[in-house]
Amino acid sequence: MIHVTQNVDDLLHRAGAKQVIQLHGTIAADRCHGSCGYEEPVDMTNPPNLRNCPQCGSQMRPAVVWFGEALPSSAWTDAEQACRDCDVLLVIGTSAVVYPAAGLIGLAKSAEARIIIVNTHQSDASGLADVELLGKASKVVPALLDE
Ligand SMILES: [Zn+2]
Repeated sequence: MIHVTQNVDDLLHRAGAKQVIQLHGTIAADRCHGSCGYEEPVDMTNPPNLRNCPQCGSQMRPAVVWFGEALPSSAWTDAEQACRDCDVLLVIGTSAVVYPAAGLIGLAKSAEARIIIVNTHQSDASGLADVELLGKASKVVPALLDE
């Protein structure tokens, strides 16, 4: 199972997810705000102070996508491939209004995946759903995945 998320936290990893594609980066790393590409993990229990890149001297910043920035190209390419290749896309708790991520649902649908949407309310993606389950993810998903 591949997880594609817009979340920048590490909750999926801590829950045991093996393959996680974080479209908006991760708060568990800092990267160079310059163009040298330096990145390093951050100890979330002891986050570092503002500092400069050890390679080029530019300011370090969280390795997350800020408004107006492009998504990490490798994460986006991996997410597109996962959505093209999946048999079932389980879409959980999204308004489906933030693009380009919301476009992954249509991509999977056009690749003939079955679309299951779990949400507390109908969304812009409801029309793409083969099955739409309305309710809290914390209730619906465990019941859906229970064998
Ligand atoms: Zn740098």
